[in-house]
Amino acid sequence: MITVRTPIVDINGDEMTRMMWGMVKDKLILPYLDVDLVEFDLHVQVRDETDDQVTIDAAHAIAEHGVGVKCATITPNAARVEEYGLKQQWKSPNGTIRAILDGTVFRKPIMVANVRPMVRSWVKPITIARHAYGDIYKNVEIQVPGPGQAELVYRPAAGGAPIHRLVHTFEGPGVLMGMHNLDDSIRSFAQACIAYALDEGIDIWFAAKDTISKTYHSRFRDLFQEEVDAHQSELDASGVSYFYTLIDDAAARIMRHEGGILWACTNYDGDVMSDMLAAGFGSLGLMTSVLVSPRGVYEYEAAHGTVQRHYYRHLKGEETSTNSTATIFAWTGALAKRGELDGTPQVVDFAHQLEASVVETIEGGTMTGDLARIAEPRPARAANTVEFIEAIERRLRARLSAS
Ligand code: NAP
Ligand code: MG
Repeated sequence: MITVRTPIVDINGDEMTRMMWGMVKDKLILPYLDVDLVEFDLHVQVRDETDDQVTIDAAHAIAEHGVGVKCATITPNAARVEEYGLKQQWKSPNGTIRAILDGTVFRKPIMVANVRPMVRSWVKPITIARHAYGDIYKNVEIQVPGPGQAELVYRPAAGGAPIHRLVHTFEGPGVLMGMHNLDDSIRSFAQACIAYALDEGIDIWFAAKDTISKTYHSRFRDLFQEEVDAHQSELDASGVSYFYTLIDDAAARIMRHEGGILWACTNYDGDVMSDMLAAGFGSLGLMTSVLVSPRGVYEYEAAHGTVQRHYYRHLKGEETSTNSTATIFAWTGALAKRGELDGTPQVVDFAHQLEASVVETIEGGTMTGDLARIAEPRPARAANTVEFIEAIERRLRARLSAS
C-alpha cells in the first residue's frame, strides 16, 4: 500500500458515470492506496434533499484540502425535475463550484497511438483554457418590438456624469444585447493560464477580436499582456512563449499546428473550440478537465457528462460499453497533484503507472465502443464497461509487480 499523506476530496455524481466511479475506486484506487477520501455525494437527489448545500460544502472542502476529484453530475432541466421529483431546477454544480473557487477550466485530450486525431498535423495534445466568467453567459437582452433608440449607459457609483453611447436607432423590430466583463476576472484568467503553462512547460496562445472590438476585446488583450509582462522572467526561465493573435487567425493556424500548446480562449470561443477539439481528438471519453483556482486549488474531472443514454440501457439490463478513461485520468490527475504538493513521489509514480496501464490497454486493442469505431486497426469487438476496467486492472497489477 502507498500512503497518500493529505486527504483528497472525492465528489460522487450521477447515472453512468456514478456506476463507473464505484468500479474505478474499488478496482484501481483503493486496493493500492492508503488514502483519506473526504467524500461528498452530489447525486441529484442528495442535492435536492440538502437544497444544494452539499455542493457548496464540497466546494469549500476542495478549497480547504487543495485537491478534489469529481464525477459528472446532472444539471437539472424541466425533464429532470419530473424524472427525479426535484424541488426545483438546481444550478449546475460545476457552475456553483467554479463560482466558489474562482477558477479557470483547462481541457486536455488523452492521446493513444491507435486513435489518430481527425486533423493530421495534431501529434501532441492541444489544451484549451476557457475564461469562465461573463460575456454572453451573463448578458442582458431585449427583443426590440419596433422603432426606437437603444443606448448603453454607465452611471458611476461615486457620482459624476454618466457615460452614454448610442447603440442603434431602430427603424423596425430587431434584437439588442448588453454584456460585460471584469478586469479582476480577466487578470485571474491570465494568471491561471500562465501558472498552468509554466507547470506543463507549454507555450500559450491567446486570441480575441480586438480589430473589431477596439475597447472590449482590446481590454482582454491588454490585461493578458500585462500579466505576461509581470511573469516574463519566469516564462523565459521555463522557455514558455506567449503569442497573441486574432481568433480567426488562431482557428486557421491550429489546423496546421502540431499541438503541445495551451490555447487560452474567451468564454464563448472556449465553449465552441473545446467541443471542436474533443471531437477532433477522437472521443469525449478521452477528454480530461481540471479547474485551477488562482489560490492554487485543483479539481479534476472528465469533460463529458453522465452519459445518460448508456445509463438508461444499463437500467434496462442491457450491456453498456462506456469509456472510463477520462474518469480514471481525473483520479490520476488528482493523485499526481496531491503527490506533487505533498512531496510524495511514490504517489505521483502510482498515478503514472495507472495512466500507462490505461493507454497500454487501449493500444493493446481492448477498448470501449466509442473508440472501437474509430481506432486503427479496428478491434474485433468492443469491450463492455466492466471488461475495460478489468483489463486495465490486470495491466496495472502486472506493471506494479514488475516495478
Ligand atoms: P454526455 O454525458 O457527455 O454524453 C453525450 C454522448 O457522448 C453520449 O450519449 C455518448 O454518445 C458520448 N459519450 C460521452 N461520454 C462518453 C463516454 N465516457 N464513453 C462513451 N461515450 C461517451 O452529455 P449529455 O448526454 O448531453 O448529458 C447527460 C447529462 O450530463 C446531463 O444531465 C448534463 O446536465 C450532464 N453533464 C454534466 C457535465 C459535468 O458534470 N461535468 C458535463 C456535461 C453534461 P453515444 O450515446 O452516441 O454513445
Ligand atoms: Mg459547449
